[in-house]
Amino acid sequence: MTVVSADVVDLPVDLGVLPACHVSARLGQLRLGMDAAGCDALLVTSLTNIRYLTGFTGSAALLWVDVDGALFVTDGRYAQQSYEQLSTAEVVADIEVPATGAGQRAAMAARATQHGAHRIGLEAEHVTWAAHQRYTDEWFCGVELVPTVALVEGLRVVKDVGEVARIAAACAIADTALANVRSRLHDGPTERDFAGELDGEMRRLGADDVSFETIVASGPNGARPHARPGNRRIDDGDLVVVDFGALLDGYHSDMTRTFQVGEPTDVQRRMWDVVRDAQQAGLEAVRPGVPAADVDRACRSVIEEAGWGDAFLHSTGHGVGLDIHEAPRVGATDDATIAAGHVVTVEPGVYLPEHGGVRIEDTVVVTEGGCRLLTATAKIATP
Ligand code: ZN
Ligand code: ZN
Repeated sequence: MTVVSADVVDLPVDLGVLPACHVSARLGQLRLGMDAAGCDALLVTSLTNIRYLTGFTGSAALLWVDVDGALFVTDGRYAQQSYEQLSTAEVVADIEVPATGAGQRAAMAARATQHGAHRIGLEAEHVTWAAHQRYTDEWFCGVELVPTVALVEGLRVVKDVGEVARIAAACAIADTALANVRSRLHDGPTERDFAGELDGEMRRLGADDVSFETIVASGPNGARPHARPGNRRIDDGDLVVVDFGALLDGYHSDMTRTFQVGEPTDVQRRMWDVVRDAQQAGLEAVRPGVPAADVDRACRSVIEEAGWGDAFLHSTGHGVGLDIHEAPRVGATDDATIAAGHVVTVEPGVYLPEHGGVRIEDTVVVTEGGCRLLTATAKIATP
């Protein structure tokens, strides 16, 4: 059971009045990308991409998109849901709900024949070898199949008002949940217990789920950036890395704060200060037109100057949206350019096995002039 302190903070947003996402415009945008990729139809098989294009949230669907229209195919479990969700999103598509897999294949094959498709695009990063064989031998015999990469993900990278509102609300849930349970770190909970309390508080505040398995990494465990919470009891002298997020209406949040329980050593104090300064430098570098690699460089150079370049074990950040990790990647070798409407994290860290770990992470939305923090928890070391 979640233990909430007496001075519990309320969620600062009303989850019932979030602005709508502009789902109905997306198929038209996708057709422009299909044309540029040289395919006259696209079979969308990633459920996340289908959700983005249609608003459908079920666990089984295929979406055919051609220049004239779209065909949405699902199974009997989702008949009513698919009609309701596509209609709410004002998406123009034919819907078919065949009872069997053979029926679904027949529906797609008939659409391909009727459309006279010559080059059918497949989502190369989401199609298994076995599925590709089936599409070639059984579904679309004699038609050229074209591998496409990130046609839908390329649209997803720039968020609309409704998407930013959902990510911001998920971030607000995470901020509020942390505010309500952080004082428990003084009571010596195990990592697992504290993670459970944080997760339970996010759900109580309205999260559909957690964004990913919450990381609570104390003492030596904190030196491993993706440690799983275990039965170690949080103790005086520990740095505690808490990396977590809320899932709301399909959208994720992502934030890390590092707390110092008890008195820090000189090294721990310096680690925390250096990472905070690196993270601030990274945030100041985020603005439209800047190469993502420059944001990584801004963080990394502060940590290198402190002599801990080898202890920053990962890249600086990543996009956040319908997936917890999505484009653009923010790392030294990534070639993305930051643009308005991107939502990215900035999360440098220093990991020293004998002292623990410090990571500080915010999620920001890129604006015309820079970026705006979506995660609001103050960066202070004390729980
Ligand atoms: Zn994180
Ligand atoms: Zn992250």
